[in-house]
Amino acid sequence: MRSILEKREWEKRVVLQMIWLYCRKQHNTRGELCKECIELSGYARERSDNCPFMNSKSFCSNCRVHCYQPMMREKIKNVMRFSGPRMIFYHPLTAIHHLIESKKENRNV
Ligand SMILES: [Zn+2]
Repeated sequence: MRSILEKREWEKRVVLQMIWLYCRKQHNTRGELCKECIELSGYARERSDNCPFMNSKSFCSNCRVHCYQPMMREKIKNVMRFSGPRMIFYHPLTAIHHLIESKKENRNV
């Protein structure tokens, strides 16, 4: 069983990887995030840091729709929709790990 701290760090890393991928492909950036995505990644990190459900969930995508403000929610949804399926190609280890964690969570519900 991983600690809550590890969960948080893991979650922040996955979200950041997804935003990077999204920004590179959708906003044509190279080696840096655009202004919009910097803002989004900062927001996502803050949400993870303040998430009160870290204990009972495995990943924020399952509940982030509830705690994101509407504009950021739309943005992160686009990021996940785009990067989610592509993670297996760009970050295979992250994707597989995430898949396993999500499955675990679904079984618990
Ligand atoms: Zn961007």
